[in-house]
Order: sequence, then structure tokens, then C-alpha cells
Amino acid sequence: MLIDSHAHLVSLENLPEVLQRAQENNINKIVSISSDIPSTEATISLAEEYDYIFATTGVHPHSADQMSEEVLIGIDHFAENDKVVAIGETGLDYFYMNSEKEVQIDSFTEHIRLGKKHNLPIIIHVRNADQDMIEILTKESAADTPGVIHCFTGDYDTAKKYLDLGYYISFSGIVTYKRSEELREAAKKIPKDKILIETDSPYLAPVPHRGKPNEPSYVKHVAETISDVRGISFDEIAEITKANAEKLFRI
Ligand SMILES: [Zn+2]
Repeated sequence: MLIDSHAHLVSLENLPEVLQRAQENNINKIVSISSDIPSTEATISLAEEYDYIFATTGVHPHSADQMSEEVLIGIDHFAENDKVVAIGETGLDYFYMNSEKEVQIDSFTEHIRLGKKHNLPIIIHVRNADQDMIEILTKESAADTPGVIHCFTGDYDTAKKYLDLGYYISFSGIVTYKRSEELREAAKKIPKDKILIETDSPYLAPVPHRGKPNEPSYVKHVAETISDVRGISFDEIAEITKANAEKLFRI
């Protein structure tokens, strides 16, 4: 059995078929990620319909300029829902820089505070911003289960800094790409109690589906690659990553 720890289910086409294939491929839990208030509402209603789907609430760093007092009150409210297992995705993206740095940092900091307030882990997106990210996480002392660096793309030294702060590291389909040698090296060395796997559906489909819409059943390809680099069986990596996701999200 496998858990997809990060999928944007409400952004997927033909969801009933997608969920059917997830079931057929032994994906027994999916954490479905929200990017704003409307997607939080849609994700929570999906999670209320299917017992194996769990929701998050937050504003994606790409939309950090949408953050307002009203939106914060919304996230604070949704965080009380029983099916909401994390705050996010939030973080910093200095590659696209859709919002100014200051705006992103403010939004991210508010998410961390809400995570602490509700005792929920945070789901972090970070691109070209590791230095600021590590500084902020260090300053805003971590909660008991601080969260996960989702779709990690760095090297082991960078991963180590997040691990030292208590964070989990999640690998997406990028780890299956031919040129991701450094990333596979990191996937080999992460302590086994800190590894998660995800699809980030509908984006970043793993090999052999690269370039096509991604879906939770493809998380098995991420698991296969990581079991290869670590020299362990598929069942073992499935078991490890499932246990880690269950612990982090208390699902
Ligand atoms: Zn995402």
C-alpha cells in the first residue's frame, strides 16, 4: 500500500477514473493539497466524501499577494475541520516571484503561526529560496511535527539543513528524471524515518508518463526509483513512506 502525500485532486480532470486507478494501484490514502480559499472548500468537500482523502488549507506562494485578514480568518477556520491534516501549501518561490519577497515572507510566516496554533504540520514549497527559508524556519521555532519540504529538488547538504530542523523531505516524479542524479543521491541518504513520496498531481508526472497529466497512481514510479537507489524492496519503501505520512499527518 502507498500514500500519495501531495496531490492537487481538485485540479485533476476525470477525477472518478483517476481515483478508481488509485484504488487499483493500492494507493490507500491521498493528501489533497489546497492553494487558496476556493480550492480549500472544494478539497474539504472531496475529503468529506471519500474517507481515504485528506485535505489541507493554505495559500500557495504563487498567490501570496491574495493573502489578507479575511483569507487568514478563512484558513484559521478551515484548520478546525477534522479532515484538514496540514497547513499549506505555503512557502517561498523566488524563481517565479509571482509576488514580492516581502509579501511571500509575510504570508509564509502567518502559515507557520497557524500551524503552531492548530498543532498541524506545514507543507512547504521552496524554489530558489533555501537561504531565506532556513533562516525563517530557524527563527520561527518549529512545532512538534513541523512539516515537510514538498517536491524537494536540492542536494543532500540542503536536505540536511531541513532535517536538522526536524522536517520531512518529500520526493516527487522529478527523482525519476534522467538528469536528477544529485537528487537521487539525496534520496539515498535521507534517514528512513524522514522520507515521503508524492506526485504533486497534476504536475510533474514521473517517467514513463513524463509530460502527461500526473495522477496519484503514478506515485508507484517514485517509490520504485527510491527503492532502487536505496537498494531495498518496493514493499519496504512503500511501508516506510506510508508509516511516515501517517505519523506526520496523523492519518
Ligand atoms: Zn503542490
